[in-house]
Amino acid sequence: MDITNDQSCSWINDLSPRLNINSLNGNQHCDWLIIGAGYTGLSAARKLAELHPNQKIILVDSQLAGEGASGRNSGYLVDTTLNDGFSSNKNLNNYKKKSDIYQLGIKSVKNFIEKYQVDCDWNEAGKYFASSKTTDKKTLNNFADTLSKLDFEFKILNQYELKKKLGTNFYQIALYTSGGILLHPGKLVRAMIEVLPPNIKLYENSKLLKSVKNKDSISCNFKNGKINSKKIIFCTNAFLRSLNIKKNYNFPITLTASMTRQLTEKEFNSIGSPKEWGVLPVRHLGATVRMTKDRRILIRNTAEVYSPFGMRVSDLKKRVGKHQLGIKKRFPQLPDHLIDSSWSGVVSRTRNGSQIFEKIDSNIFVAGCYNGSGIGVGTLFGEQIAIKASNENTTEIQVIETRNKPTFLPPQPFLDIGVRTRLIYERLRAISEI
Ligand SMILES: Cc1cc2nc3c(=O)[nH]c(=O)nc-3n(C[C@H](O)[C@H](O)[C@H](O)COP(=O)(O)OP(=O)(O)OC[C@H]3O[C@@H](n4cnc5c(N)ncnc54)[C@H](O)[C@@H]3O)c2cc1C
Repeated sequence: MDITNDQSCSWINDLSPRLNINSLNGNQHCDWLIIGAGYTGLSAARKLAELHPNQKIILVDSQLAGEGASGRNSGYLVDTTLNDGFSSNKNLNNYKKKSDIYQLGIKSVKNFIEKYQVDCDWNEAGKYFASSKTTDKKTLNNFADTLSKLDFEFKILNQYELKKKLGTNFYQIALYTSGGILLHPGKLVRAMIEVLPPNIKLYENSKLLKSVKNKDSISCNFKNGKINSKKIIFCTNAFLRSLNIKKNYNFPITLTASMTRQLTEKEFNSIGSPKEWGVLPVRHLGATVRMTKDRRILIRNTAEVYSPFGMRVSDLKKRVGKHQLGIKKRFPQLPDHLIDSSWSGVVSRTRNGSQIFEKIDSNIFVAGCYNGSGIGVGTLFGEQIAIKASNENTTEIQVIETRNKPTFLPPQPFLDIGVRTRLIYERLRAISEI
């Protein structure tokens, strides 16, 4: 099945159309083959090109590079997460390992944008973990306790303070952490495509159908050609499972989001002209909401089991109603039909929230499954898996490798039943927060 993304993601539509798009046609040989051109694959390719300037490197994607989750996420480059969805990190040591990886992820993205002078609307605005229920105070206090032990800066805010910062009365309580960054995900991934050096050949709209390991190489079949490579790195994130890679450790979840048009001066004034901000929910399936630098409101308030290959337009339209409702609840004074674009995207999850970073066979490597925190961790893991595959070591690899490894998933149909049941439960818990 081909990936058929909607063409209606604001982040991607903000960018100018790309020229020189090549697809694979015929047979090729290379030293390195990378499958998947999101943050992970692009970062792996960039690092390999630096390490092996005279070797032949091929990067392929089944759709346009960067137009999967990497170009359609919510743009939070996180330093902390409240927990990781399905398994909260109550254990301080585990939480520390996870946040050490987030810090390295921020450093990788920062180094990238500084080195290539990238404008991706980088704003060290921090982020709010907010709730409309004062009963969530207990969760936030527990979180505050964890953050204090690890020396993170944070602040707890009440409804009055939040109204002044965010321009809405909706939230009763929030915990603000100052370390997170808000950015334009499309601009970031586009920059990663633009800086690819000449020793990388990028083929797009070229789906890997099958790969077979031979003695000294891996042969890969695509729709219109074959590639024989000495080494391969899989960076297909939510599509790892569909390629039978680490199949018992990861599964895809589909999210949908909408973005409004720019608010007019009058509309913006009516909500108190707030500075750019980002809110993450305290209850897992609550809404992620952002006020962008250019006065647009982004909302993401669905997560579900759906085919990762694309959402039907009619189904996407149904989810937009939820986005509209979420905006109305927060900003009742704004007009009804502000939404300019809506899209779906896929994240990859593991049972215990840990990422995949490993050699799965001789000359075959894989990095992915960031459980919704892939901007920084994807960039970091892409660079570091390239280094690991080149038989080198770094302090970053050592930090990554001390994390807990992903745990085994139950077989089908129990996995689907379990995930769906959990999502129903989380959805009911977060009904006030959409
Ligand atoms: C709506 C939404 C909101 C999110 N919000 C955030 C956020 O605020 N902060 C954050 O850090 N993360 C967020 N994420 C997650 C983040 O976007 C991902 O973790 C990150 O993009 C993963 O990057 P990647 O390069 O590993 O994967 P992707 O960007 O998914 O790239 C994988 C690529 O592999 C390609 N591919 C798949 N199968 C094949 C095949 N057979 N042959 C060739 N190519 C193939 C795909 O076409 C795709 O381009 C969000 C995701 C979504 C969908």
